[in-house]
Amino acid sequence: MDYKSDVINKTAKTLRERLAKTEDKKSILRAPELGALYEHLKTLTAGKLRADFGKEINALKTELEKLVSESAMPAETREPIDVTAPFGINTPLNKRPGLLPAESGSKHPVMAELEKILDIFGRMGFSAVESPELDDDWHMFTSLNFPPDHPARADYDTFTTTEGLVAPAHTSTMQNRVLSAGREDLAAGRPIAVVIPGRVFRNEDLDSRHEHTFYQLEGVYVDRGVNAGNLIATLKAFLEEYFGQSLEVKTQPFYFPFTEPSFEFTLSCPFCGKAGCNICSQTGWIELLGCGMIHPNVLKMAKIDGGEYSGFAWGMGIDRLVMMKYGIEDVRHFESGNLKFLRQFA
Ligand SMILES: [Zn+2]
Repeated sequence: MDYKSDVINKTAKTLRERLAKTEDKKSILRAPELGALYEHLKTLTAGKLRADFGKEINALKTELEKLVSESAMPAETREPIDVTAPFGINTPLNKRPGLLPAESGSKHPVMAELEKILDIFGRMGFSAVESPELDDDWHMFTSLNFPPDHPARADYDTFTTTEGLVAPAHTSTMQNRVLSAGREDLAAGRPIAVVIPGRVFRNEDLDSRHEHTFYQLEGVYVDRGVNAGNLIATLKAFLEEYFGQSLEVKTQPFYFPFTEPSFEFTLSCPFCGKAGCNICSQTGWIELLGCGMIHPNVLKMAKIDGGEYSGFAWGMGIDRLVMMKYGIEDVRHFESGNLKFLRQFA
């Protein structure tokens, strides 16, 4: 607006500033300053001066009315914005902020090793199925031959949701699904041969060897006439391929509700050839994983006849394998997001 009169210019500035601050926008049209201008108009004698002054007051009033009605427009009629976009959607490409080049990123060491692990098992005839990150109590415990209220359940420091769902504490939570889905293979004369990588969660006291979130690789194999010798040979073949050298392995008895017999699987240290080093705590041997022959009750819950078929299963900590391979001293590095650590594997 082009106001000529000083008094109108001053009033216009005052009212615009007040309009910006006030909640009740309409009240600006009843402002005493505006009324005073009309009072002043009445005192002027008829003529060009009075006519011009009158036009300027009207122009100011029209401007204020327009500002008031614009501020009252409902939000839906305004142009929508994408609040997740880091720039306006119509910003030309050359004006947009630069994105980090993809080459600056790298695979997480656990994921990079997992690909190698799955490749080896793939060549050994195993298919891969991922495990979920939220499951139910039945798959976590009951289907794995943990009787209700059995103390063995307490060995797994599980996180549960208020709805009663379980953040899986082991990838074995997938065994029943894999066994049930494999019945058709067995009927067709093919074995069930599946590995299950997955993220698992435990309510641990954290230290260099314990983390609340880590990765496991479950293995399940079922066919006619499968025995513990097949289990040991399969794991030995995998480990020798993974570490690229001949290894000695041994088993000692252990307990899991879902395998019978159950074993703790130990391999000769791939780093010192049994001479003793930091990685094997100077013993020459490394206890690596738990395994065993699938308990007949677990087969039965998947409607597989344990008289006709037998099989083995194992659960292996992927983080632990990667720690061993690269001499990583603290498991907590993996989930830390620490770039100094991660860049060593880039
Ligand atoms: Zn060693």
